[in-house]
Amino acid sequence: MKYQPTIGLEIHVELKTKTKMFCGCANETWKIGVEEIEPNTNVCPVCLGHPGTLPVINKKAVESVIKAGLALNCQIAEKSKFDRKNYFYPDLPKGYQISQYDQPLCFNGYLEIDDHRIGITRIHLEEDTGKLTHIKDGSLVDYNRAGVPLMELVTNPDITSGRQAKEFCQELQAIFRELNISDADMQKGQMRCEVNISLREIADKRERDADSRRQLGTKVEIKNLNSFKAVERAIDYEIQRQSKLLERGEKVIQETRGWDEKKQITFSQRTKEGSADYRYFPEPDLPPLKFKIQKSKIKNNVIDIEKLKRELPELPMQKRKRFIKQYGFNLAEAKILTTNPELADYTEQVISELKIWLVDSGRFEGTEEEIWQQNKAKVIKLVAGWLINKLGGLLTARKLTYADNTINAENFAEFIVMVFTHQVSTKNANLLLEKMLETGGDPSNILEDEDLGLTGGEDLEKIVDQVINKNPDQVKEFKSGKTVLLKFFIGQVMKESKGKADPKQAEELLIQKLTP
Ligand SMILES: [Zn+2]
Repeated sequence: MKYQPTIGLEIHVELKTKTKMFCGCANETWKIGVEEIEPNTNVCPVCLGHPGTLPVINKKAVESVIKAGLALNCQIAEKSKFDRKNYFYPDLPKGYQISQYDQPLCFNGYLEIDDHRIGITRIHLEEDTGKLTHIKDGSLVDYNRAGVPLMELVTNPDITSGRQAKEFCQELQAIFRELNISDADMQKGQMRCEVNISLREIADKRERDADSRRQLGTKVEIKNLNSFKAVERAIDYEIQRQSKLLERGEKVIQETRGWDEKKQITFSQRTKEGSADYRYFPEPDLPPLKFKIQKSKIKNNVIDIEKLKRELPELPMQKRKRFIKQYGFNLAEAKILTTNPELADYTEQVISELKIWLVDSGRFEGTEEEIWQQNKAKVIKLVAGWLINKLGGLLTARKLTYADNTINAENFAEFIVMVFTHQVSTKNANLLLEKMLETGGDPSNILEDEDLGLTGGEDLEKIVDQVINKNPDQVKEFKSGKTVLLKFFIGQVMKESKGKADPKQAEELLIQKLTP
């Protein structure tokens, strides 16, 4: 490639606090599930910007941003303040937004994606705006979202590809969920990404030495990216588009572009005519913020950074490494299983239940730990396959997520042991899992009720005898040396048993009965 992309991200995240940023209104724009709540129900004089009202800082929101900063290796400001960002637009009832200008809460951090360090310039706290819906005769405004605490994170221009940007965003989402500061659902607008991208020519070594500060290319902003895939594809598309322009000797225009999901292209929204002057000034209605960085006596209303640091949970990257080392999952599996804390917890519960079910199956000898160590590798493979591909597939087909999973860890573990000890065929195991998901029931009960278990023992012997009696010609040929017919006999047994025969036992019985 002749051109080197320089990519930075601006990410807005709605924080999961009980109340809004500066008033007592409920911070809730979604009912459980996917339905939005009635417009303009969570509003009050403060978030509607009535004259004479005064904002009060939500301490939980400030703590949430600091937790994010600590998890992202940031420095935490010793002093900070809020500022007014002035602009007039109907989604902003006060005529200004309370934001942070020159003293963000966190700065100078980084996050590593596959050993590539992406710098985090700053993380600050502000309030979200209302939501406009444009209709034929005008625009409707909903202020439920106005005043919701919003965290803004800005990266250094360290990202070099669409894929890297996507992985960075996914990692951030996993971190915010683990910290329990936001659900960061992109479809719900709880996490919004904007991309800044420019291309510059890759200079050869000589040129680089001569001109070490080569100019950056013209910057283009991409907005309206509401999925990780859109972030990746919009960047890839933009790299192509700008490369072609530059190759033809044309100029890239500084502008804001949107993403057309249907056509999978970016399109021009507006060109930039100089930067807007927001006339920032310190918010006179809010006191400046001070933080205790050193260990000290905890006083009322002081945020203790050391305490927050001590209370940080195990972060997704650490958890991923542990899943690989402790359980033997591969990297791709560990990545999926740690995307949200609930799924990671579920996986660990299943594994601890598995040990008990393996012992209870009575098929193995030794202590619980010995049995686990002997079978761990194979069982973990089964867990990964059934949890990620099969259960994940069943949930996706029903438009559900792991949060809606009705199978408890104990039942899932029992199911895995049933598959592992060949109590059910792979085909019927799929049906069994589906029934478990539908009913939330116990696998051994469903196996019995639905008659999905493998046929073995005397029942199987009866079927084997029937098959032998029905096919005298093939028996003769087999006995005279045509042993490939064994496959035919096994096939017949499977057919007679409606797919429920234990293939291993069937083979043993057939050889035993057909060999003189
Ligand atoms: Zn309010």
